[in-house]
Amino acid sequence: MTKFLLFALIAWLIIKLLKRQQRPNPPPAEKTDDMVACAVCAVHIPKSEAISSQTLFYCSEAHFLARNKQGESALGKFTP
Ligand SMILES: [Zn+2]
Repeated sequence: MTKFLLFALIAWLIIKLLKRQQRPNPPPAEKTDDMVACAVCAVHIPKSEAISSQTLFYCSEAHFLARNKQGESALGKFTP
């Protein structure tokens, strides 16, 4: 009887160890970066990858240029 209990205990320990090894490791904590919204399309991008102009952020150079062109043309309307 004690042999059976000892065998059961060893089997249980082996199963427990195997299950622990199979458990996937938790994903490493990703470095968090502030997210900002593009002033043109509102897509959220990491601040480090955004193109910033004063207080506005842009997802790409194209949107930066598009917004600045609009700004220039809007200003142009008010200048004589
Ligand atoms: Zn954009």
